[in-house]
Amino acid sequence: MTKVVFPGSFDPIHYGHIDIATRAAKLFDEVVVAVYDRPLKSLLFDPATRIALVKETLAYLENVSVMGYSGLTVDFAESIGATAIVRGLRVFSDFELEFRMTLANRRLKPKIDTIALITTEENTFLSSSTVKEIASLGGDVSSMVPEHVNRALIARYREIEAG
Ligand code: ADP
Repeated sequence: MTKVVFPGSFDPIHYGHIDIATRAAKLFDEVVVAVYDRPLKSLLFDPATRIALVKETLAYLENVSVMGYSGLTVDFAESIGATAIVRGLRVFSDFELEFRMTLANRRLKPKIDTIALITTEENTFLSSSTVKEIASLGGDVSSMVPEHVNRALIARYREIEAG
């Protein structure tokens, strides 16, 4: 049985992430979407909300589960018995970062490999930062995120505006 981890910040989850999770679910027996608890970058949603949004989004994929984690991704992967990390690639510039991260992770834990899946063409521009920038300015992100994520974004920016 092949179990893999698809790690990320998912702040918030969008159609690019969904594409990669769906592809991974077809290729592997079990996919654990791992929502990173304490990323260095500043986040819009707290870990519990990001996890809840990912869970609701991917509930239709039977062999996909969602977990929060902190610390090193390779340690988390090993702790749950995963053999590989899945990452999504959009544009050429993603490659350099993923390449360096893969080699660093391999140095730390040679047994855990990394598999990069290439996104579908229409998602190549999509990132959580783009979604947040547009949503923060009142733009329509309904073609980039599922409806419940869109609602959460609107509510969160209202909350921030209200102080
Ligand atoms: P991180 O902070 O680790 O980059 P993200 O939540 O931004 O976490 O992304 C998680 C994973 O999803 C990464 O492998 C990233 O490359 C991938 N990803 C992000 N956007 C897209 C997209 N539009 N298409 C495919 N994969 C994507």
